[in-house]
Amino acid sequence: MSKPVLVVGAGPVGLTMAAGLARYGTPVRVVDRLPVRTIQSRALAICNRPLKAAINHAACL
Ligand SMILES: Cc1cc2nc3c(=O)[nH]c(=O)nc-3n(C[C@H](O)[C@H](O)[C@H](O)COP(=O)(O)OP(=O)(O)OC[C@H]3O[C@@H](n4cnc5c(N)ncnc54)[C@H](O)[C@@H]3O)c2cc1C
Repeated sequence: MSKPVLVVGAGPVGLTMAAGLARYGTPVRVVDRLPVRTIQSRALAICNRPLKAAINHAACL
C-alpha cells in the first residue's frame, strides 16, 4: 500500500484536495494546527464559481 499524501490545512482548499485525491484512490492524511473547528460561520455567502465547483465535486463522489 502506498504512503498517504499529507495535506496540511483542513480548510476548504485542503479538504477539496484531500477529497480529490481520495476519489482517485490515493490515501490521504489531513492535519491541521487547530485542535478543534471554529464555531464561526465562514460560508454565509458562497460565490457562483466555487459553488459550482463544489457541486461538480460532490456529484463525482
Ligand atoms: C469570519 C469569516 C467569515 C467568512 N465568511 C465567508 C463567506 O460567507 N463566504 C465565503 O466564500 N468566504 C468566507 N470567508 C472566507 C473563507 O473562510 C476563506 O476564503 C476560506 O476559508 C479559505 O480557505 P483555505 O482552505 O484557503 O484557508 P483556511 O480556511 O484558512 O484553511 C487553512 C487551514 O490551514 C491550517 N494551517 C495553516 N497553517 C498551518 C500549519 N503550518 N500547520 C497546520 N495547519 C495549518 C489553518 O489552521 C486552517 O484550518 C470568511 C472568512 C472569515 C474569517
